[in-house]
Amino acid sequence: MKKTMMLISLAIGLLAACKQAPKTVLTSGIDLSNLDTTANPVNDFYQYADGGWMKKHPLTAEYARYGTFDQLGEDNQAKLNDLITELAAKQNPAGSIPDKIATLYKLGMDSLKLQQQGAAPIRSWLEEIAKLKSNKDLQNELVTLQKNGVMPFFSLYAEADNSNSKMTIASINQGGLGIGDRDYYLENDSHTKDIRAKYVDFMTHLFTLSGYADLVKQPAGKLANDVMKIETDLAKASWDRVVLRDPHKNFNKMEVKKLVALAPDFDFQNYFKAIGIPQVKMLNVGQPTFFKSADAIFKSASPEAIKAYYAWNLINNAAPYLSDDFGKANFDFYGKTLSGRQQMRPRWKRVISSVDGALGEAVGQMYVAKYFPPAAKQRMIQLVKNLQAAFAQRIQTAVWMTQATKDTAIDKLHAIHIKIGYPDKWRDYSKLQILNDSYFADVMRSQLFEMNYMLNKVDKPTDVNEWLMTPQTVNAYYQPTTNEICFPAAILQPPFFNQQADDAANYGAIGVVIGHEMTHGFDDQGRQYDKNGNLKDWWTAQDAKNFTERATVLSNWFSSILVAPNTHGNGAFTLGENLADNGGLHISFLAMQNALKKGLINPNKMDGFTPEQRFFLAFATVWAGNIRDQEILRRTKEDPHSLGKWRVDGALPNIEAFLKAFNIKAGDKMYLPADKQAIIW
Ligand SMILES: [Zn+2]
Repeated sequence: MKKTMMLISLAIGLLAACKQAPKTVLTSGIDLSNLDTTANPVNDFYQYADGGWMKKHPLTAEYARYGTFDQLGEDNQAKLNDLITELAAKQNPAGSIPDKIATLYKLGMDSLKLQQQGAAPIRSWLEEIAKLKSNKDLQNELVTLQKNGVMPFFSLYAEADNSNSKMTIASINQGGLGIGDRDYYLENDSHTKDIRAKYVDFMTHLFTLSGYADLVKQPAGKLANDVMKIETDLAKASWDRVVLRDPHKNFNKMEVKKLVALAPDFDFQNYFKAIGIPQVKMLNVGQPTFFKSADAIFKSASPEAIKAYYAWNLINNAAPYLSDDFGKANFDFYGKTLSGRQQMRPRWKRVISSVDGALGEAVGQMYVAKYFPPAAKQRMIQLVKNLQAAFAQRIQTAVWMTQATKDTAIDKLHAIHIKIGYPDKWRDYSKLQILNDSYFADVMRSQLFEMNYMLNKVDKPTDVNEWLMTPQTVNAYYQPTTNEICFPAAILQPPFFNQQADDAANYGAIGVVIGHEMTHGFDDQGRQYDKNGNLKDWWTAQDAKNFTERATVLSNWFSSILVAPNTHGNGAFTLGENLADNGGLHISFLAMQNALKKGLINPNKMDGFTPEQRFFLAFATVWAGNIRDQEILRRTKEDPHSLGKWRVDGALPNIEAFLKAFNIKAGDKMYLPADKQAIIW
């Protein structure tokens, strides 16, 4: 209940225009114990602003990275745990939502039953795979697996038609790689080679443990090598992450018969029928060259190898939901080897996550009822409007754009659809079956339910009111095809939103996050969509050229940063996120200046800091965190966001107002001369 009150008054604090705001004494919003005052802000601002936080929150064995987002995530998990254990302790009507949540939770927590069951829950699946003989059998099994959310070779989903975003179409995309990124299969440095060797060991171990090697009477090591061969071939055919960011290259709408001609051996004609969307005539084929190659791999690999690959996809998918020996092997590879974690998360946290994954909006509905008042939603919309107004000002005064492009940009900015807190309409889970047989079986039922839910959207009007994150997610997003921004309830709390703080800190934290999400509509990807979410060029040639030149400055800057010995950042891959941070900082800083002018922010020093300094310190707090060396390498390959340190020390030198706020001069490490700064939005 306390939390509820806090969020209401917090929103009032931010709703700066409110004349009747209660006269409370606000703090600076800067927790001085988060600072490391032995560091010099002009040389290492991250250490200065966050060094104290990092010292207070050393990495625990279960984390590869621990930052303020993870800290909020931890608090959230405790809240969800309270909600779910409360249900589990009750007698719930059979088949009701509380009963489903409680049953899944109890199965996950029942370590004794999980131990007794061992590999038994996946036995029938493996027997079915072992029996496959003909090409037709292999085709059918591909459909069966994918229908249940297990995706060998490629993935299938529903997405807005990028040429007519009002409709949703089927989309197939490259996939099928167990390690995750193609680079793991293709690069030859010692760290990557070690990862590959351990991946083969991991597969060998689980082929034995699951009983599949015995079923097909083949050595587990041979099965693992067969899978590695298929995945390596798929990796060679896969597009890299930079090309995957290009919306035009990845939008290839075609008739099914054209896809059939491109990849004749997958029998796509029958595939769509069998998977439950027989009406599909046109779809998006994300990466056509990948499908041509994957088809050739499917055709040339032996049936035994494909069966091993299917079995591996199933076993790997199931491992976290089986007995401890499976869970431990899964953790040893994905947690330890890939990320450098030392210890598995405790069972309760893993189970809460999977209940949350299976019944996200049902859990979310309980979460907001307890922790988020409807009134806060309306007030947050007001803050977003303040940021929108500041963004429009920035566009109007941009020196590099013609008025025609500016007008269209502002039009798009005002058309942004805003989602705050939680959805107006909740998802219906009545058709999701949760039985008391095994944890794995229920996870599969929930995956089947999710696939059906998604496929049901194909060839129907796009639902613009759908939420792509649950309210209990500590995050936010922008979706270009619906031109929408979304701020789930869970991010609307400190250190993003601080009720007792003067708004300078709030603009530095949640304000920059809002500006960040809005800028995504105008980053190197987002700018290619119009206000209705269609891939359509609304830029004059000169303005587009100017944009690209300015964005390239930022891309080159981040590529020049050494994130680990011998490893540079990937400026092209992280460009969209870095543009959003850059824009978010500029926009929210202007919104703060607007509020200062109106007398809504304390213009004096608080805790020794000017409003401008408080803004940047609060911004840095959002990215405070500790991280392991392996995780730095993994994220540099897989995460389109820059690392926390560089979202501060890489982003801020480009912001003139920051240099001014901390009196940073030529010769200081945080300094970047004005003519080298990236200024876009
Ligand atoms: Zn982003």
